[in-house]
Amino acid sequence: TYIIAQPCVDLKDRACVDECPVDCIYEGDRMLYIQPDECVDCGACEPVCPVEAIYYEDDTPDKWADYYKVNVEFFNLL
Ligand code: SF4
Repeated sequence: TYIIAQPCVDLKDRACVDECPVDCIYEGDRMLYIQPDECVDCGACEPVCPVEAIYYEDDTPDKWADYYKVNVEFFNLL
């Protein structure tokens, strides 16, 4: 799955939402989240994010590694 990391917090540009073919990017209070069970790993969202907040899970920078859990927990999947 792809995940959304810290640069999205308090920004929520939403460019990714328009690109996602399966509408699996959801809006929370402070950031957007990707539903991991719905994401089809197409990668369409990643390049359109103006702040590079989106990463394939294994490519997430170490400083934002916790954001995998942040995305999953938003959907109560843990
Ligand atoms: Fe949606 Fe594709 Fe991004 Fe997954 S990788 S969130 S399916 S646009």
